[in-house]
Formats: sequence, C-alpha cells, structure tokens
Amino acid sequence: TTQIRIGIAGYGNLGRGVEAALAQNSDMALVGVFTRRAPEDVATLSPETPVFAYDALSTDAAQIDVLILCGGSKDDLPVQSPELAARFNIVDSFDTHARIPEHFAAVDASARAAGTTALISAGWDPGMLSINRILGEALLPEGDTYTFWGRGLSQGHSDAVRRVPGVAGGVQYTLPSETAIASVRAGERPELATRDKHVRECFVVLEEGADAAAVREAIVTMPNYFADYDTSVTFITAEELARDHGAMPHGGFVLRSGVTGQGNTQGVEYRLTLGSNPEFTASVLVAYSRAVYRLHRGGQVGAVTVFDIAPGLLSPKTPEQLRADDL
Ligand code: NAP
Repeated sequence: TTQIRIGIAGYGNLGRGVEAALAQNSDMALVGVFTRRAPEDVATLSPETPVFAYDALSTDAAQIDVLILCGGSKDDLPVQSPELAARFNIVDSFDTHARIPEHFAAVDASARAAGTTALISAGWDPGMLSINRILGEALLPEGDTYTFWGRGLSQGHSDAVRRVPGVAGGVQYTLPSETAIASVRAGERPELATRDKHVRECFVVLEEGADAAAVREAIVTMPNYFADYDTSVTFITAEELARDHGAMPHGGFVLRSGVTGQGNTQGVEYRLTLGSNPEFTASVLVAYSRAVYRLHRGGQVGAVTVFDIAPGLLSPKTPEQLRADDL
C-alpha cells in the first residue's frame, strides 16, 4: 500500500510536533516542511527532513495528499488556510473560538471552489474536548457541562508576569480547582464563578535587589490577568527556572453531570494530562489527516470540523479490523 504524503506548512512548536508524530505513523510519509523563513535557517528535528520555501507550495513540485497547517491562529491561519485550501487538502488547528464560524466560511468557499477537503480547528480545545462536550450533551440532555483546563503553561499569563518591574524571568501555570472538580464529580452540579474553577501558580525569578513583596503584590492584583483568581507566587532561582520549567505541559477535563429516569445521577468524564501541549495537538492533527485523506478519496469536498468525522476514519485499521478487534 502507498503511504499518505503529508506536508507541514509552518515550522514552530506544532510543526516540530507533527514531524515527531509522523514518525509514529507508518502509513504516512513526510514530503517536507514549507516555511516563510529562509529554509537554511530552519533546523528540523531530523536532519533528513527536507525544508522548502513557502513559495514551493505554489509549484507542481509539491506532491502532497494532505497539508498540515502549523501557523498561528491569530495572524497566520486566517490567511493561510483559505489560500492553501485552494490547492491542497488541509488540516488546521485554528483555536480562536469566537471566530470559528467565519474561518469555516472562508475555508469552505475556497475548498468547494477547488474540490479539496479541509478540516479546521482540530486539536484538543477546540478538538477532543469539543467532541466530548457534545457527546455529554447529546447523551444526557438534562445536565450541566463543565470544562476545566490545566495543569497548563499559559503563554499570555507568563508574558504578563515577565513584564512586572523587578522580574527577571518566570512562568505561569493554570490549575483546575480540586474543590470544584470534586463537587462536579459528586453530582452536585455547582454554579461556578471564574475564580472558583481555576487557580494560578507563578514561578518567578527576581532581578538583583528587587523587592519580593512588591513584585508579589503587583502580580496578584494585576487586572484581567490575576486579580480575579487565587494566585500563588513562588520565588525561584534562574537555574531552577531553566531546569524545572522548560516543558509545555497542559491538559483539561470535560465533565457532564446529568440525571435520567427518576433522578438517577449520571457522570461522564474525559481527561487529558499532557506533558507537551504542541506534541499532543500535533498527534491529533496527524490522525485527522488520515481521515481527511479518506474523505477526499470518497469524494467529499469543502470544510469540515471534528464533529463531522467518524472515529473509525482516524484509525489506521480497516473497518473490518475495527469491528473484529475493537467493538
Ligand atoms: P509558533 O511556535 O509560534 O509557530 C507559529 C509559526 O511561527 C510557525 O508556523 C512558523 O512559521 C513561525 N515561527 C516559528 N518559530 C519561529 C521563529 N523562531 N522565528 C520566526 N518565525 C517562527 O506557534 P505554535 O506553538 O506552533 O502554535 C501554533 C498554533 O497552534 C497556535 O497559534 C494555536 O492557535 C494552535 N494550537 C491549537 C491547539 C488546539 O487544541 N486546537 C492547541 C495548541 C495550539 P514559518 O515556518 O512559516 O516561519
């Protein structure tokens, strides 16, 4: 059998994750990385991975079954996804929730005109958590859905900590509140305010001579970022920051708590504990590329989301194998 030919457009954290994930999927082959930077400036995980200029995508040299877009949601994907769906089957991880309808419309128009298949907003949120939210709501119409995030590194909040005067370096983790989760699991269906759901943990390296108490106060009272949460600040050394806080962990829970019949409580829970957010997201994008390849071969064109894709299409096994082994 021939392998599915995959291209990577954009090579940051997610692009590296896709390169790593493809090595774990033997039915797929990496054609190469396509970057807007000078190809010689981009160092890939494997020295064997070809790196091409982004413009090479508009030549016939690009023999690709599915192109995985790894650009940023803010500025890259709104332009790149519609543009590249006009030439390729694509998968993206667009995660600006409020803008998903307009992104879908732009990509759908482009893909329909070109006869390509385009999956938008795959990953874990949006993505795997979204699937579990709609499953919970469909199966238990009388109930409440809860999403908690973390323990996770928040890039935006880490940047905010680093801008505080007296701070030499630091990171911020968002953690789900254990009390809130316990209450949901117990079937209490609590009403939770923002500060009840998550807590924030900061690890901060002070500049020489900085006032620790003043730095702590500036962080915990910062409007929009920390004032509405219970925030802890732990001071560490630059060595500890480098040694213990270099990874990009994340995760989340979706819980549905409902009742059926004469008041029987039903609980459903899906949990992600991720050592690397970009590597997990990339693994999801790679599995969904297989589905996009199959949908396209089946004649389906236009944009889709994870809601439109049957789980069996993600698996390298055939439908016959799945029925025999996994039902
Ligand atoms: P990133 O590392 O900032 O990379 C984004 C783009 O920036 C790359 O495609 C690359 O394009 C360029 N770039 C990367 N490193 C660069 C450097 N050293 N110098 C100049 N340009 C560089 O972002 P990311 O962490 O991979 O995340 C990408 C997107 O994934 C995020 O915006 C987020 O929306 C999405 N995401 C979604 C989920 C989900 O669950 N749905 C989860 C995580 C992330 P070129 O190679 O063309 O220069």
